[in-house]
This record gives sequence, C-alpha cells and structure tokens, in this order.
Amino acid sequence: MAYNFKEVEKKWQEKWYSEGTFNAKEDYSKEKWYGLIEFPYPSGQGLHVGHPRSYTALDIIARKKRMEGFNVLYPIGFDAFGLPAENYAIKNHVHPKITTENNVNHFREQLKSLGFSFDWSREVDTTDPNYYRWTQWIFLQLYKKGLAYKATMPINFCTGCKVGLANEEVVNGVCERCGSPVVQKEKSQWMLKITEYAERLVKDLDDVNYLDKIKAQQVNWIGKSEGAEVNFRIEGTDDSLLVYTTRPDTIFGATYMVVAPEHKLIEKYKEKIVNLNEVEEYKHKSSLKSDFERSELNKEKTGVEIKGIKAINPLTNEKIPIWVSDYVLITYGTGSIMAVPAHDDRDFEFAKKFNLPIKQVIKSKENDIVIDSNSEEPFTDVENGISINSGFLDGLETKEAINKAIEYIEQNKLGQRKVNYKLRDWVFSRQRYWGEPIPMVYCEECGWVPIPEEELPLVLPDIEDYEPGENGESPLSKQTEWINTKCPHCGKPAKRETDTMPQWAGSSWYFLRYMDPHNDKELASKEALKYWGPVDWYNGGMEHTTLHLLYSRFWHKFLYDIGVVPTKEPYAKRTSHGMILRF
Ligand SMILES: [Zn+2]
Ligand SMILES: [Zn+2]
Repeated sequence: MAYNFKEVEKKWQEKWYSEGTFNAKEDYSKEKWYGLIEFPYPSGQGLHVGHPRSYTALDIIARKKRMEGFNVLYPIGFDAFGLPAENYAIKNHVHPKITTENNVNHFREQLKSLGFSFDWSREVDTTDPNYYRWTQWIFLQLYKKGLAYKATMPINFCTGCKVGLANEEVVNGVCERCGSPVVQKEKSQWMLKITEYAERLVKDLDDVNYLDKIKAQQVNWIGKSEGAEVNFRIEGTDDSLLVYTTRPDTIFGATYMVVAPEHKLIEKYKEKIVNLNEVEEYKHKSSLKSDFERSELNKEKTGVEIKGIKAINPLTNEKIPIWVSDYVLITYGTGSIMAVPAHDDRDFEFAKKFNLPIKQVIKSKENDIVIDSNSEEPFTDVENGISINSGFLDGLETKEAINKAIEYIEQNKLGQRKVNYKLRDWVFSRQRYWGEPIPMVYCEECGWVPIPEEELPLVLPDIEDYEPGENGESPLSKQTEWINTKCPHCGKPAKRETDTMPQWAGSSWYFLRYMDPHNDKELASKEALKYWGPVDWYNGGMEHTTLHLLYSRFWHKFLYDIGVVPTKEPYAKRTSHGMILRF
C-alpha cells in the first residue's frame, strides 16, 4: 500500500500545532526544563541549512525531557530588526515592516514543515511594539542607574553616500554600497557601561556550565590585566603622556613612545612641532583607515616622528622621541604607548624600520642571548626572565620586578597600580531607521530627559523615506513632526532622540519574554521568571560567544541588580557549534 507521505505529514503537523502538543504547561508544580536556541533573523532567503542543524540538536533533547516527565519550554521567535530589511527598503521602496512580516511568515511555515517541537504559542518578534516596549523599558532603567550615557565616539562615515555605516558595511576601508572611501567621523552617541560589569562577567563564569572554549573566549574578550598607569613627562611642559603597561618592569627599556594619530597632544603642541605638515598629512592618511585595518598584525608599520617635543623616561630620566603611528588606537587604552622594542614584536619591527634604539632589559634564565639593533628578533619569552640594565630592578625575577616597579612608581608619584580591561563600553546608537526608538527627549533647559514609562512603547513612526539623513544622521532626523515634542520634565518644546538601538538590544533579553510572552504589565511575571529561569541549556553559534552572549549576560545581571530577575546568570549551560561552510 502506498502512502502519500506529504499528506500524512501535513495531517499530523496540523494536529500538533492546532492542539499545542508541544506547548509548555502553566503548571509550576512540575519540574521544568528550558531549552533555548538562538532565534533567527528572518532574511529574505528563508532558512539556511545552519538553522535546522542547530535547532534539531536541542529539539532531540527537548523531546527526551518531555518523555522523562519534565515541563519543557522550547520556544521560538524572530530577531527581526536589522540592516538587510532597511537596505532592501531603500532599494525597492517596500516598508521594512512589510518585508519583515512576509519573511517571518515564510520562516514560520518552513520551521513548522520541518516538524520542530517548538511552543508556537509563545512566539516573540523583536519588532512588535508589545515586545520592544520592554526593550525600551530596560534602556530607561539603565539610564536611571547611570549605565546609559552620551559620549562622542567615532562612526564609520561614507564620503560618497554621506551616511554612517555599520562595521560590516565597510569592506577594506571602502563603502560596501558605493565603493567610496570610509572615514571616521565623531558623533555623539548613547553608550552602555558594560565595563562596570567586567569583573563580574569574568568571575561568574565559575558558576555556569559553558564549554571551556566559550569561557576562554569571553575571558579574552573582557581582557582583564593588572599593571600600572605611568606618566611620561613631556620635556619643557607640565604635561605628560599617560600609558598603561602590564610590564612596568620593562620601563628602563622604553626607548621611544607612540601616540595615536588622533591624540590631542598633536593639536596642543602644534606650535612646537617642527614637522607639523608631515604629521598632519600622516594623520589625514590614517583617518581613511578602519580600526580593523590599522591594528592588523601583519601589515607594514608606518609612522612619523613628532619632531620638536620629547618625552622623559620616568625611570632613566632620558629624553626619548615621540612618534605617531596608526597601530596605536585612540579608542583603546590611553591612546599612547611606551615602546620596549627589545621585548615586543611590534615595537621591535617598528624600531628596526625607523632605526630607533633597542635596549635589552630582561635576560633569559637559560642562555645569554643579547638583544640589540643587530638582532633578528626580540626576546619575548619574558614571563620568566631576570631584569638587567634596569637600575634598582637588576637581578630580580619578573614577578618580583613588576611589583617592585609598581611600588617605586607609586612612591614617587609617577603613576599607580591599575587593573585594566580590553572590554569597551557598548556603543548603543545606530543612525538607522529599522530599530527600536531610544525613548529619550532633549530639552534645551533640562538636557536629556527619559520619556515617562507609561508612555511606552515609543512606536517607530511609519515613514516613506528611509534614506539616511545628512552628515550621518538617522533617517528619523527628517521626521519633523515626530521629533518635535514636549519636555516631560518642564513642558517646553523639546526634540526626540533620532538614533535607534542596535540589533543586539532585542536579543539581549528575549529568553525572558518567552517565559511570559503576553504579559502587558511587566516584561514577565515574578512567578514565571522564578519558575522558568535560568535557561537550562542554550545552544547556538560560536560566532555569538563574544557579543550576544556577553551583552545578554550584562543585561541579565543588571536586571538581577534591580530586582527584576531572580538569578545572576541567564544560562545555566551553553554549547556552541561551528558554522557549516560547505558540503
Ligand atoms: Zn557609500
Ligand atoms: Zn525641559
């Protein structure tokens, strides 16, 4: 007898979905199990093979848990704000809301036809005002606790389209869309103080069951280090250049300094700089490069000596030259470094190229290799060396030398001990249309004022013109009617923020909404949060280990601090898989 498999399949799928066979039960007396997959971005292409691959793995676990008697939550939703829909709208003049809706419908149909055991009754969509109302609410809480602030940060700016670009739209320093050079442009942006949580984001990894490689990537990304901030005086001025170093024991070997092209020193001392034209020209050239290009390890080092001013090495009191080079980034650390070419690959390469002095200050315990200008490479195995040519540090082993150097620096008021993180604060503004409006108003009298919580959601206005505004402003900057409002504080005329949130916003807390998706009083009820949290197993892509995973842990910790969620960590267990590149 021949079956029509398509028909059989359809019959049962319809039964599952109409009866809610796989839906989680509202029975909080049963033991729960919460399995989470990364909700998809509904692109125009439909599902790709990576989606079912990842969803199938956890679907199997979810089915097993159901058979074992657990109350299983295995939800699905759509991370539907984002650039592709907006770019499609610009090109084809179709509202992103329409393309998003079509794409979501297509995805839903495809996912259902694959027979996954998702709980469709809890579907969330980050572009739904009933959802992003709570994304905006979380932003307001962050603002009220001083964790959201405005700062001037560089954005990628296309000189052709005259718009701000996301990093992924900049390809080899040119605009992906028109091929024009992309430059860095300063713009006032909303920032989130994730750095305030850096320590806890590292420490609390001890309490969760993540694959070791995931933990390691998070720890590296946060990049905690201990060392010292040290001032190098600028000769003939009251100024100094501040550097951060994890190896203050090598200061005796610092033979020159390097500042980022954007460092304010150049502007401040331009009268003194004798080769200002050359320096300015170098500055201009490096403004045409992205941070990524600038910090690539293998590229040829470039730089110009800033002639006319010198720094003074605080331990040797020797005058040392100051260079400008684009491998030092203004957005990273203090924007200036001390160079110890005898013991650092990058500094060594730079010193060789420009004939700068190389002074060895650490020797190996095993041999007597001498490092000088004739050497082919630096001596970088410096974790276990012995200090030489370093005055009061001579003969000390590395660990001891570092401590003694810091003590000396503090006693002589040359600087101080400091813990440093690579992690930067999160740039939270996008000069884009298709994102959550940032619920803030600017008043000439009162400054930035949050809109009252009862006015949320602040709905994204329907517009026809998605073309970005002038000078890197958001398309919303052209919506005069929407922008003009009253100050919630003093009632005078005020203007709305026109930047929107990044796509990372909606995905930073979606797993909480699944617990109680239809709640219109709070992001989820206390009972639901207590019962379902934390996520028992979160499976996703390795590419999300640093940004998404870190951002959502940060938001969750913040929500814990203000008493919204009952656990410090959102995910008890995290596994990540690689990407399918080809068959
Ligand atoms: Zn362009
Ligand atoms: Zn006001």
